[in-house]
Amino acid sequence: MPNQPISGNDLARFAGPQTFMRLPEADSPEGLDVAFLGIPMDIGTSWRSGTRFGPKQIRAESAMIRPYNIQTGAAPFDSLQMADMGDVSINTFSLADSLKIIEAAYDRLMEYPLVPATMGGDHSLTLPILRSIAKRHGPVALVHVDAHADVNDEMFGERETHGTVFRRAYEEGLIVPELVFQIGLRGTGYTAEDFTEAQGWGFNMTQAHELWHQPLTGLGQDIVKAIGDHPTYLTYDIDSLDPAYAPGTGTPEIGGLTTPQAMQLIRALRGLSIVGFDMVEVSPMYDTSGNTALTAANLMFEILSILPGVRVR
Ligand code: MN
Ligand code: MN
Repeated sequence: MPNQPISGNDLARFAGPQTFMRLPEADSPEGLDVAFLGIPMDIGTSWRSGTRFGPKQIRAESAMIRPYNIQTGAAPFDSLQMADMGDVSINTFSLADSLKIIEAAYDRLMEYPLVPATMGGDHSLTLPILRSIAKRHGPVALVHVDAHADVNDEMFGERETHGTVFRRAYEEGLIVPELVFQIGLRGTGYTAEDFTEAQGWGFNMTQAHELWHQPLTGLGQDIVKAIGDHPTYLTYDIDSLDPAYAPGTGTPEIGGLTTPQAMQLIRALRGLSIVGFDMVEVSPMYDTSGNTALTAANLMFEILSILPGVRVR
């Protein structure tokens, strides 16, 4: 039997190790199918900070999650070997240096056939992860759930920030533009044409208002059909959710997705060849109820439930 989370019936949920779902810690990626990593970073943010505390809080809230997905029948921990490899030791005084540290850390991981499951941290961390992922898998398909397209050219002259990630990924050939699906976009623009250019590259954008009051199952199924078996990276910005569901984030935008829509979308993405995923932009200081980190942890569990190789009842 692969590693199991510590059961809440064996050790009270508020006790025990500070790992994702209280899984064992691991120093080596050897033998792992899924490696959890925290990237406690917020120096790529442009508005509120605080995501440096995201991994700690997601891990804390994840202690409540039980190992079986009753609604979908998925048994991720019976199917795959998982462990928490702790936090990447970034340089909190330098974003440029931190991105290099992250890329080097994932380069070492990518020597192994595992799925990195990253807890952020601000969204700038996805760029070095994609650089590393593309070295192993080539340009990947991308499912990007976010209020923001993160395709700015620069911010204050900086080309690597949480708002420029997917333009850099496009320019560097890390992603297949026609297989990029951005979902949940909304908010006000720096210009009225903020989304137009990336659509010209081939990016598929679904804005939040197109999804208001709609089930997201069909959208998810269409994405699976379009991507097929191409290696896919899933990047999940918690600000895709409406601030009513996820207030604890750095750049909240009204009119977002609901938690049930998020679950529908992820469940419908079953069948994708996911080679890595991240959950970013959880900022605990603005998370007065803890619901944002709780939701982030549960959405990570939903993603675990659709990974290739996970048995479903
Ligand atoms: Mn983002
Ligand atoms: Mn965002």
